[in-house]
Amino acid sequence: MHSAGVVETRRLRVGVSRVVAVLAMAVVAVTSIVAAAAPSSAATEGFRDVTGKHQFYREISWLSSSGITTGYADNSFRPANKVSREAFAAYLYRLAGKPPVRLPSRSPFRDVGVSALFYREIVWLAQQGITTGWADGSFRPKEPITRDAMAAFLYRFEGRPSFAAPARSPFKDVTRATKFYKEITWMRASGRSTGWSDGTYRPYASTTREATAAFLFRGYGPRGYTAPAYAPPTTWDPDRDVSRMLSDPESVLVVVNKRRPLDPIRYVPPDLVSVSGVPGGSNHRLRREAAQQLTAMSRAAKSNGLSFSVSSSYRSYSYQAGLFRNYSNRFGVASAERFSARPGHSEHQTGLGVDVSSTGCTISGCFGTSAVGRWVARHAHEYGYIVRYPEGKTHVTGYIYEPWHLRYVGVELASEMRARGVTTLEEFFGLGSAPTYR
Ligand SMILES: [Zn+2]
Repeated sequence: MHSAGVVETRRLRVGVSRVVAVLAMAVVAVTSIVAAAAPSSAATEGFRDVTGKHQFYREISWLSSSGITTGYADNSFRPANKVSREAFAAYLYRLAGKPPVRLPSRSPFRDVGVSALFYREIVWLAQQGITTGWADGSFRPKEPITRDAMAAFLYRFEGRPSFAAPARSPFKDVTRATKFYKEITWMRASGRSTGWSDGTYRPYASTTREATAAFLFRGYGPRGYTAPAYAPPTTWDPDRDVSRMLSDPESVLVVVNKRRPLDPIRYVPPDLVSVSGVPGGSNHRLRREAAQQLTAMSRAAKSNGLSFSVSSSYRSYSYQAGLFRNYSNRFGVASAERFSARPGHSEHQTGLGVDVSSTGCTISGCFGTSAVGRWVARHAHEYGYIVRYPEGKTHVTGYIYEPWHLRYVGVELASEMRARGVTTLEEFFGLGSAPTYR
């Protein structure tokens, strides 16, 4: 949903630790201190959405530390996101060591202007013969790169090594007649791709960021590369510029209210999963990370003899439209707007908002005074959640006190808000109040 051409933000902590590492090496060189005595400052915060258990944790760690592509300002890597053709041009250009490029005054592609974000990288790609673009003279920079095109790009990037394509295809959905048969089978033979476990390569599917990390690591990652131990991001970094994240629906920092609709308005999260281990959760979906953290919070509540259930979580644009219409018909529009959002303006559409209930208190103020409701208010931040519509903040949030409506924002931000005593996202980010629609 976000444009893959969005500028990614180099992760500050990685940069800092690199400087420290360089300094440490200098100290070693000057004073001949044994390497083991150098401070082990390499511990960097990992990505919130690529834990040590991720299938491509090592590959993604390498890709990020090598600077070929980094994460986003909200500490995410977004492994399931698609890679655009222009972004992949930039990956290869960086992988090649950012060589000098003679930039023509006229673009080789009719849909890539000389002031385009990745003009240099795309021109370089064309000059190297890695891409010829499409027959209609376009490059289609914003389109996701398909897995067959990636095979072709990588084969040419490698200098078109001599390779005899096998007589029999190693993939059941690729035949000798498939365009880029040679390049795709080279991906397999060179160890870059194993295909899917069902024996397919899926040549026309978009390539994800995680698959790209794997392809590139297998081709260019150092043999003995050891990824740093995973450390979840837990500290809010006040120096990090997260302003773009506040409008990015894929960021856990997105702020949605009556003045800030989702963009696009019919946004659908890419990684919805059902909520396991929480009563009612199997009928409801949240974004993967939010779901996992809700499961963890439920487990902790249970260990204290308390229990909450899920009453509502992700709601699509059209579902919200129906819901709002219903409430408006029953209570009148003015009343409905105090507790229900217009479609495109609901946190529930982000996949990061969830309504929880205790026995006898379903979507009701009594949740706030129930034992589990009080426990949730005290501990939600430890799991990255906030009570999004706190008491006495209706003039800021536009909603009545909703002790049951939790919003996932990540542990760093939730803990920081708690520590500073700031209870709304609007106030924390200085966004202004949103009591009404404009
Ligand atoms: Zn809600």
